[in-house]
Amino acid sequence: MEKDCELKLGPPERSQRIDVIIVGAGISGLVTAYRLLEKEPSLQIRILEASDTIGGNLKQIPQGEIGAKWFEGSQAHVYQLLQRMEIPIQQRSVVDATLPRCWELDQTVSSNLAKYELQRYINELQIKAPFFRPGRFSIRKNSTKMEKHINNRLFFSESRKFMTNLVELVCGSKASDITYKEFMSLCYGCGSLQNIINIYLECPNTLLEFDSAHLLNALTQRLQGTEFLVSRQVKAICHYKDYIEVHDSTQKIHTTDVLILAIPLNALQQINFSPPVPMELRKVMNNKLKLRLMLTSFIAGYGDAHWRNAGYSGSFLKNEPFIVGYEYRPNVYGGMMIHDSGSESLVRSIVLKAFAENYGEAMETPHSYNQHTFELSSLAHMPFTTPWHRIVWSSSAAASTCYRGFLGGAVQSGLRAALNALLLVRPQVVSWTDVADVHCQNCPNIKDVGALQLWMSGLNLYNVGYYTLYASSVLLALQLAFKKFG
Ligand SMILES: Cc1cc2nc3c(=O)[nH]c(=O)nc-3n(C[C@H](O)[C@H](O)[C@H](O)COP(=O)(O)OP(=O)(O)OC[C@H]3O[C@@H](n4cnc5c(N)ncnc54)[C@H](O)[C@@H]3O)c2cc1C
Repeated sequence: MEKDCELKLGPPERSQRIDVIIVGAGISGLVTAYRLLEKEPSLQIRILEASDTIGGNLKQIPQGEIGAKWFEGSQAHVYQLLQRMEIPIQQRSVVDATLPRCWELDQTVSSNLAKYELQRYINELQIKAPFFRPGRFSIRKNSTKMEKHINNRLFFSESRKFMTNLVELVCGSKASDITYKEFMSLCYGCGSLQNIINIYLECPNTLLEFDSAHLLNALTQRLQGTEFLVSRQVKAICHYKDYIEVHDSTQKIHTTDVLILAIPLNALQQINFSPPVPMELRKVMNNKLKLRLMLTSFIAGYGDAHWRNAGYSGSFLKNEPFIVGYEYRPNVYGGMMIHDSGSESLVRSIVLKAFAENYGEAMETPHSYNQHTFELSSLAHMPFTTPWHRIVWSSSAAASTCYRGFLGGAVQSGLRAALNALLLVRPQVVSWTDVADVHCQNCPNIKDVGALQLWMSGLNLYNVGYYTLYASSVLLALQLAFKKFG
């Protein structure tokens, strides 16, 4: 097995064996390292990062945040982390609630009906999500696809498009590639659909924000003894009985007692595991994306408050292509566009054109413009939370039903991964309070849903139309029968 691993990458350079290696310097990897050192300062930790900076999806440019920036107060793990690090938390207060938002969904003739059926559908999914807790249901190959479910439930094309886009945002794959059951399980794990809509689409004033550079500084200061190796993409992992070898893109082999993988599922799928991961994990990992979906985040600065001048504030939403915008400051607008890989260079012109159509031509020529492309992280219906021998899973996708796919999930998985690693290398330092810290708060509860509420939530234009037709035909038949025989 050792030979196999080495042959793949040519003659390697070996490093000294260390206690814990963390792959990925996103928020989950950094929180894992922080927690490990807090519990056991003597641990030797090395972090391997593929890009040339740390922070992962937390990214800042001089105009402001271009990566993750907001969270709901209910994302308890993020809130507690920021408080511990003494990072100021502010309430977002830019949106002028008296001005209307600029959503394509609001501008069509049938918009009120479309919004009504959409709201009902989202409520239905929210009410039913707790029944799809990971492990509570089985996924068969012929399960209904989410695209079909949307088309069977929603009548208006605007509401269908909105929902299809939302599915892509939540699970990083097309609605035609994910089953209804998988999607429901993800909704359960992501907090709630309304939370996703708030953070990515509506961006209301109730959201909390923080300075990501401040947080990254605070975390790195507390990781003084940790070795950071950037521009080291992990290519292969060889798992032995007592240790693990990690092969990076510079042909170096790192040996460790415990390996923590704080990277998204997309990145896990690109690593060569020897021996291969067990069947149950492979099933989840092999649920590969047919298409890589990208998310380009942008910020554009202008000399004037164009949105407000045009009578709009708050958020912007276009369904095709899927563009979301928000007011960062009255003359600075941010947002994101979802697209297939390879079309990053077109984002700027598409976005500015869409803005110009809605708020005036001046929007096509910003004073400053910046963008950054991220791969949309895909989520599997089953998070990896149990270590595989000496390999521990972290990252937002590996959170146990605690804002998976969000900052809350990343922090929670980081804390849980640290606990898993400590149980392997220093079990004596683990206490019951550490287990409590990892515990998920605010998980939706099945018991709260009544049978009538469940039934009512499933009513939509199609089945109400069907029931009405059925009831009228029965009445008509009875009336005819009464006339004939009565
Ligand atoms: C544009 C955008 C905006 C967002 N906004 C919000 C928001 O407002 N609120 C919110 O709650 N959530 C938001 N999210 C989601 C949130 O950012 C993520 O859930 C969270 O940051 C994930 O953290 P992570 O540590 O799990 O992964 P990441 O941040 O993705 O970090 C993983 C790291 O691993 C590295 N890596 C990958 N593969 C390898 C490899 N083979 N070898 C070595 N290193 C590797 C990557 O380079 C990366 O640095 C947003 C996401 C995006 C993309």
